[in-house]
Amino acid sequence: MAKQRPYISALWHAVPSNIHARLEQSIQRGIEDFHTSPQQASAVPKIFFRADDIAIPSSQCTAMLKIFAEHNTPLALAAVPAWSTPSRIEKLLSVAPNSNDLWCWHQHGWSHISHTLQGKKCEFGSNRPTEECVEELQQGTATLTSLLGDTLQPVFTPPWNRMGEDSITAVKELGFKAISRSESAPKQNILPDIPVNVDLHTRSELTAESGWNALLEELRAGIASGRCGVMLHHERMNPAAELFLQRLLIILQSYPVQPVPLYPYML
Ligand SMILES: [Zn+2]
Repeated sequence: MAKQRPYISALWHAVPSNIHARLEQSIQRGIEDFHTSPQQASAVPKIFFRADDIAIPSSQCTAMLKIFAEHNTPLALAAVPAWSTPSRIEKLLSVAPNSNDLWCWHQHGWSHISHTLQGKKCEFGSNRPTEECVEELQQGTATLTSLLGDTLQPVFTPPWNRMGEDSITAVKELGFKAISRSESAPKQNILPDIPVNVDLHTRSELTAESGWNALLEELRAGIASGRCGVMLHHERMNPAAELFLQRLLIILQSYPVQPVPLYPYML
């Protein structure tokens, strides 16, 4: 059985009063650790934000988009094609306009349905016939292209951050230039990988404090790597998570860390 995560992760029930100082400390340590390599002594670590499961203009989704717009910080939007309709996308574009390069709209699977019978969830696993996967991937690309046109970027984020190698080859043949999964995903040489290494909202720690410790360590390590990728799930955000996100974006502005759109800046 796949491990079930609590819908709202434990840490979002109690934001520590000293979170501002702890956040600053993690960012500062990440920068210092990045600079310990002589080749990177004067380089600036990059950070990108990727929001998954985009399509429905819920109040949580629009609140998240407004936070990024307000702080002028790029956000990659991983849109689920089968959930995307003209009216939904139109509403989202009114908050995240395609005339603005803050938003890296890109494809997030097809229908976000897992086809694994047990174990970890996966939409495009190697257990499915390749032709079936190719058909759905094509359908997804066609749907989003019809709704977003040139705004759609050639990046593919697989649901649950995993997909089989045959499907990676299929997305390459469809014209995608990169995929974005988690840092722990199995290595592959088919397309460049742009991994996320910080998970804000689908955490499984049982207590708030263990969640904070793990999250802040992921942030430090991500910045220390020079390529920090932060994953968001708006449907699991509560007011505490919104407040933290605002603080994070504000604090980042006072550090030498460069927020960039996922594509093409992270290639
Ligand atoms: Zn997803």
